[in-house]
Amino acid sequence: MTISTAARRRDHHIDGEPVVSATYLVRENPATGEPVAEFAAGSAHEVDLAVTAARRAFDHGPWPRMPAGERAAVLRRFAAAVEAELPALAALDREEAGRPIRFARADVRSAAAHIATAAALIETQCGESWTDVDRDLVAYSVHEPAGVAGLIIPWNFPAGILCQKLPYALAVGCTVVVKPSEFTSSSALEIARLAEEAGVPPGVVNVVTGLGSQVGAPLSAHRDVDVVSFTGSTASGRAVASAAGASLTRAGLELGGKGAVVVLDDADLDQAVEAAVFAAFFNSGQCCVAGPRILVHAAVADRFREAFLAQADRLVTGDPADERTDLGPLIHEDHLRKVLGHVDAGRAAGARVLRGGARSGGELARGAFLPPTILDGLTPESPVFHQEIFGPVVSLTEITGVEEAVRLANATSYGLAHTVWTSDVSTAHAVARELRSGTVWVNTHLDGSTHIPFGGVKASGFGREAGRAGLLEFTSLKTVQIRSARRAYGFGTR
Ligand code: NAD
Repeated sequence: MTISTAARRRDHHIDGEPVVSATYLVRENPATGEPVAEFAAGSAHEVDLAVTAARRAFDHGPWPRMPAGERAAVLRRFAAAVEAELPALAALDREEAGRPIRFARADVRSAAAHIATAAALIETQCGESWTDVDRDLVAYSVHEPAGVAGLIIPWNFPAGILCQKLPYALAVGCTVVVKPSEFTSSSALEIARLAEEAGVPPGVVNVVTGLGSQVGAPLSAHRDVDVVSFTGSTASGRAVASAAGASLTRAGLELGGKGAVVVLDDADLDQAVEAAVFAAFFNSGQCCVAGPRILVHAAVADRFREAFLAQADRLVTGDPADERTDLGPLIHEDHLRKVLGHVDAGRAAGARVLRGGARSGGELARGAFLPPTILDGLTPESPVFHQEIFGPVVSLTEITGVEEAVRLANATSYGLAHTVWTSDVSTAHAVARELRSGTVWVNTHLDGSTHIPFGGVKASGFGREAGRAGLLEFTSLKTVQIRSARRAYGFGTR
């Protein structure tokens, strides 16, 4: 079956079947303002239906009971199906999220790679235990599937972030209820269908669409959910953690960020500029691991600024369907207004707006477009220096050395990913050690592989995704101890 990208009405997907809704949320293409999809507006009722289906599939169905190798074989077919549907899935994310098409394709490719990684990992994670307690006591620990997992997904990488969670949960034998973003639900529904076509039994992957308050909140509070994995803003993450905490449900939280790109005076400046432009404006800055704060050493600041501006001026903001486009629109009008509010606050705090700072005009005026926006001289005293803007807005701040760079990088409440540019290996190690974040990139940005664990510290959350660490998030460890000879307890026998 092929995927249609014509204007579409989307139902929930529960227990292998579409489930209609009394009301639907209309999604407009953020590049044009035209309606592209209608998503079923779910409620606690549909969440309960989906959790019940997932619970039944976990407690009585074949999926958690299958040999790991069989689940891996299904996942490999699933990865191949996602690869095969790459153009159509990328087109859905382009239309609903406004992602430039070549980046939307890369995101779906990454989704397929995560599924293949989860398959490879689960096949190699068995067959070893240590039994050295004493001669007569054998002890072993098994990683069991945690049970029913609630997966709550944001809009900025719809297919990619879903697949940083879904295949790892499936690989270990969990069943899931997915709550995609209300702005970008289509690819999650199609990916669920592809999983079933590949052999995942009905009821194992359920998708309930709708608003965070109506669907995400009851999912994180549901007593039959064993583990919640959430990616989104820090504010929503706090609500999810409280709801999950009330029923003592485990929650992994991947939250906001405010990364620093530290450029020291011994950096390879050409590479640093190229990567910093990418870090600032990739996905129109709507990226939790973006580099919205550049901390550049005063000795190289003028050269860096000049080259950065020249390179940013070459970026193309426009139609996401055009292969040459670097920046598409922001996710919606309200978000654009919020981002512009941050720019105004930065200006009011004394920063100079060197580029951008106003919505795009002409042909682009009907969409939520903002060209690359560059603030110079933003000081740490301004709240804008600390807040997540989540748009194509970058600030340049001069620093005098490593100590100040580390202090300013760590000054926000977030701790997701920072970058340092230096040619001195000792400095690289020292700075990496001092930065309080889940990831530190040295002389690179947005690098990695599906095997490398990813997550945050501080207000960026806790828990890890991808690789073996990501697999373990969906397991619980059971220890079994078996004694083979009689033992004296020395209790009440004297
Ligand atoms: P968001 O918090 O508004 O929404 C994320 C998801 O949570 C959506 O599906 C939404 O409907 C749901 N939701 C909202 N309120 C909820 C509630 N009270 N209970 C349960 N679910 C609720 O975030 P967004 O605007 O979709 O995404 C952008 C944010 O996500 C940014 O802050 C970004 O930094 C963060 N993010 C983090 C990572 C990471 O890995 N750390 C990755 C991508 C995005």
